[in-house]
Order: sequence, then C-alpha cells, then structure tokens
Amino acid sequence: MSDSAARDQAIQHLRRLEAEGVWGVRRSEPAKQEVKLATNDSDLQTFSSPTAGGQSPSGESLTLETLAAAARDCQLCRLCEERTNVVWGVGNPDARLMFIGEGPGRDEDIQGEPFVGAAGRLLNKIIEAMGLRREDVYIANTVKCRPPHNRNPAEDELAACRPYLMQQVDLVSPEMIVVLGRVAMQAILATDAPLGRMRGRVHEWNGIPVICTYHPAYLLRTPEDKGKTWADMQAVMQQLGIGQQ
Ligand code: SF4
Repeated sequence: MSDSAARDQAIQHLRRLEAEGVWGVRRSEPAKQEVKLATNDSDLQTFSSPTAGGQSPSGESLTLETLAAAARDCQLCRLCEERTNVVWGVGNPDARLMFIGEGPGRDEDIQGEPFVGAAGRLLNKIIEAMGLRREDVYIANTVKCRPPHNRNPAEDELAACRPYLMQQVDLVSPEMIVVLGRVAMQAILATDAPLGRMRGRVHEWNGIPVICTYHPAYLLRTPEDKGKTWADMQAVMQQLGIGQQ
C-alpha cells in the first residue's frame, strides 16, 4: 500500500470511529485489587487498582506508523495552522508503560518529538529513577500540535485529536498509563476535579489502569511537589513489578 493510500485509510478509519463515538476497542473489566504503598503521604496509602491485563488490539490493519503518517497532514482542528511539526509520539511500540502529557511546547513543536525540553529532561530523570529508559516506555500527548503561546488545548481540539490518542493507546496496549498534569487528566478521565484529588488512586480508562501525577513542567516550577510524583511512580513500579518492592 502506498503512503497516501495508507494515510487515506487511517483518516477514514479515524472519521468512522469519531462518527460512531468509538474511542477505543478495549472492553475488558479486570478484577480489582488493593495495593498498599510505601509513602509518607497518608492520602496515598491505598490505591484501588485493577490487575494488569486486557484484550489484544482491535485487529485493524492500522499501525502506529500509518497513523503517524495520517496525522502528519492532519487539519482536523485549528492547531494545524501554527504548528511546525505534528508531534506524534515516541518510544517502545510494545511498552508496558505509557506516559500521556497535555500537548507539545515550543521545543517539541520544533523537534517533532514529545517531552524534549526542560520538562522532557525531568521526565527522563523520573523514568530513569524508576529503573527504566526513555526508549522502554511510550510517550504521547493529548493533542499532537502545539497550542499557540502554550495555551491549554480547547475542548474541540482535544476532541478532534482524541481518536489519534485512543488508537495509539490501543496499538501500544500498555499495562499502565501515567497521565501528566491536570489538563491531560481532565481530558482523559472526563472530569473537572483538581489533580490533587485524583492522585493517590488508580483510575481506569478503556480497561487500562491510569495513575495521574504532576506534569514535569509544573514540577520545575514547584520542586517541593517532586516527592508526591515520586510516590505516584512508586505505585506504578509496584503495579508493574519493577524496581525495589
Ligand atoms: S491537534 Fe490533532 S486533530 Fe488537531 S490538527 Fe493536530 S493532529 Fe489534527
């Protein structure tokens, strides 16, 4: 199949999903289990977590590469107007752990890769502290194009880009997702609750356990909250059985 045919196929597929209101294909209902955490923050002592697992991807012929090609020329929302690059995603396509942030910033827009600026370097340190490498995980954003002046993405922009994210998640099929920051958390979990209230619990999104934590850009401005993010990452490590128990 030629590149343009693959792109057309992916775009048609995404539009069909959008029209049908189908944002993901995972339908598993994993059993719940309680996980006790080693943390000083009493609010974080108990995570109610689904066990890892889930169904296999949809069986569609789409791949991450095909979808990335489709997104390269995407004009489904106004964020296409000022972007330099579509910032698709990066990392291991079979990652057990996926990080999802809000949207590209200036450095990401220029380089076409998520989390490459100062916030990206801090995310790399967090990943390494977990005993992983950046290339072990998969990293993406809720919107693939930079909102002008780093404003928050608007609701219609998040909705327009959501099929891409859902397909990324479906194709990577991670055992766990870490959502970085309030904007991504509210968009993904469909809530307007503050991040502080959503931390400390394992949520579920299309059958995948989700933990919310602070965005690295916030942690650069508020380093006193780094310990809270580390507690969140310890929960992730415990769930995935990595690092020290
Ligand atoms: S943000 Fe997403 S939906 Fe909007 S133009 Fe970029 S790729 Fe398309």
